[in-house]
Amino acid sequence: MPVIVSPQEDIYVAVRPGAQTGMQLPGANYEELAVAATHGHPVPSWFADAARRAWRIDLAGRPTGSVVTVRRPSTSPVTYSRASWEINKGCNFACEHCYLEQRPFAGLPLNEKLTLIDMLRDMGVLWFQITGGEPLIDPDFPPAYERAHDAGMMVEILTNGSRLARRDHLAMFTARRPHKITVSMYGASPETADALTQTRGAFTNMYRGLQAAAVADLPIEVTIIVTKHNVAELDDMRALIDEIGFPRNEYGSISPTYTGNGATLGTQAPGYLDKSAIFAGCPAGHTSFHVDPHGFATMCKVGRDHPISLIAEGPEGLLRLPAIADAQMLRTGGCSGCTLSSTCRVCRPMARVYQAAKAPLEHYCQHGERNPA
Ligand code: SF4
Ligand code: SF4
Repeated sequence: MPVIVSPQEDIYVAVRPGAQTGMQLPGANYEELAVAATHGHPVPSWFADAARRAWRIDLAGRPTGSVVTVRRPSTSPVTYSRASWEINKGCNFACEHCYLEQRPFAGLPLNEKLTLIDMLRDMGVLWFQITGGEPLIDPDFPPAYERAHDAGMMVEILTNGSRLARRDHLAMFTARRPHKITVSMYGASPETADALTQTRGAFTNMYRGLQAAAVADLPIEVTIIVTKHNVAELDDMRALIDEIGFPRNEYGSISPTYTGNGATLGTQAPGYLDKSAIFAGCPAGHTSFHVDPHGFATMCKVGRDHPISLIAEGPEGLLRLPAIADAQMLRTGGCSGCTLSSTCRVCRPMARVYQAAKAPLEHYCQHGERNPA
């Protein structure tokens, strides 16, 4: 379906998977589209005009229900607009810098995966990120993805790209276009990427995936993960991506594992720790949440105190989440009484992970500023 129209907190929005622009709709226009979709009416001319301007697509004369997914208002006791989900922590790579300390291949049975997605739909989740581990190695990924897509979610997939060139995956993403596929890149050569990921064929499979995705015109964004093992190939990685024509980002701040193990910090590339932004607050737990492979919801991937079983408790369990999140954001523990907290660059859950890992202060805390990493 080319366009999704949805309530979103107190407003109505129209968005299109793969597009960066969207539009806000008055309530009366949203209702008109809902009626048109239900009764097989053609797309109203005002919406066809707006879609042409926003996304350069022609919806004129098409039955509304065939080109617009109209999401109905949430029926759930709690509403959220964003969620992320580790479908499975298992991964076919073994990166030294990975923020997951353990990567067991385990998760919900398929029927509960689908129940979970239906629950997120009913809560109003529009922006949905599926991650892992490596999500595409989970045999339930295709039906889960299709369920989320058909529910009218803007789905982003975080992947190492190694399974992207598979025909069944390309067919799935072509038939149901995701909003974004973010591919992590670990090197510009097999020697470097295979060593960093401790996986033979990692580079070849990832690069083949990028090329296949380009041919299929999928909405790819590449994130270059910069560590001391691949920093010498940074320019070559940029050039490879530019040659294919995908947008790219770089990420060079290696954190401890989210369970507080600092063994990852040794892979930090000197000079690539991002110290530019001051932490300005975060709505995690209030407008977004994270779900682990077993269906437990937490405020985010880092702040995992007091997980709530969505399968056992249903959406009502999330009524507790805002208070759980607020408690984790308090500058307690190693940050108690800090006079610099208003200019801190890390949120409290992230600071706690660094402190648990006994990380050198210069990696995350202003009290170590004199010895920048
Ligand atoms: S890690 Fe910190 S900034 Fe990121 S979502 Fe969690 S609380 Fe927010
Ligand atoms: S500057 Fe350091 S001690 Fe202060 S709040 Fe940030 S991480 Fe905590």
